[in-house]
Amino acid sequence: MIHAQDIAKRYGGIEALRGVSFDIQPGEIVGLLGPNGAGKSTAIKIITGYLHPDAGYVEIDGLNVLRDLHAVQAKIGYLSENTPLYPELSVQAYLAMVADLRAVPRSDFRGLLSDAIYGTGLQAYLTRPIGSLSKGLRQRLGLAQAILHKPQFLILDEPTVGLDPTQIVEIRALIQALAQDSTILFSSHILSEVEAICDRVIIIINGEVKADQSLRELSMSNNATLVLQQDSADVAHSLGAVAGVTSIRQLRSLDDYPAWRINGTADITPQIYALARDRDWPLRELRRDTVTLETFFNQLATTA
Ligand code: ADP
Repeated sequence: MIHAQDIAKRYGGIEALRGVSFDIQPGEIVGLLGPNGAGKSTAIKIITGYLHPDAGYVEIDGLNVLRDLHAVQAKIGYLSENTPLYPELSVQAYLAMVADLRAVPRSDFRGLLSDAIYGTGLQAYLTRPIGSLSKGLRQRLGLAQAILHKPQFLILDEPTVGLDPTQIVEIRALIQALAQDSTILFSSHILSEVEAICDRVIIIINGEVKADQSLRELSMSNNATLVLQQDSADVAHSLGAVAGVTSIRQLRSLDDYPAWRINGTADITPQIYALARDRDWPLRELRRDTVTLETFFNQLATTA
């Protein structure tokens, strides 16, 4: 797993990270989400050992990133903001060079190279100089170098930035396919991307973790909506007496039926259902309200 503990980083007067902690479990695919300038790249550079934190530490698979840098880097594949790609080299020559740098055993060389090439769909471009590739193809090549040694951990900094919509779909599908074998952490400022790919999201704003939740948990609010077939005496009053209910608001009727929005300290739908049965209310609908990532994120961003 990846364990980050209280990592802090300052660039001159800018506090880029102010004590960031999180854990990523094996097999998870986690999105590091935040507005531009939030500290995502800084966190990723520290996790991958390319930048020293001012305080705190990171462990990957129980190894301290700074103390055991080589062992850690053997376990991770990293796509940085600007992966150094050599424009005069061909795709094939570049990947062979990466395999050499990674000290891939000779016996595995062909197999690993071929898996990375086919996995990223680069087979038609092997002899092309990198300098002549489109942004999307370069991004795929960046991914190919990251996955070449079949790393246990894949850490990707804004993997779809600068790509067109078709390329974005391709790269997303590729990341999802890679998640079969690797634990993946990727940063993004695109909400829909995180929603489409991740199990869990860590939201960083102004260098601090503001949320760390599974997307499922995050989508569940403690609000409920109650719709009755017809109004019944004393509904609001009875709801107010339910343990855990914090506020009640009668809504403008939904489809001509009387409706209430009820806020609670936890999921209060079971208690409301029991009450409705008890009072013989003509129940039409009772649901726990959901929250979109966008609403959640905007609430965090505006209160930050
Ligand atoms: P993100 O990846 O979320 O956009 P970054 O980690 O790149 O955020 O940046 C976090 C903050 O640190 C920003 O205010 C950014 O301007 C600043 N920053 C990042 N890198 C440097 C640097 N090398 N020198 C000075 N400030 C930096």
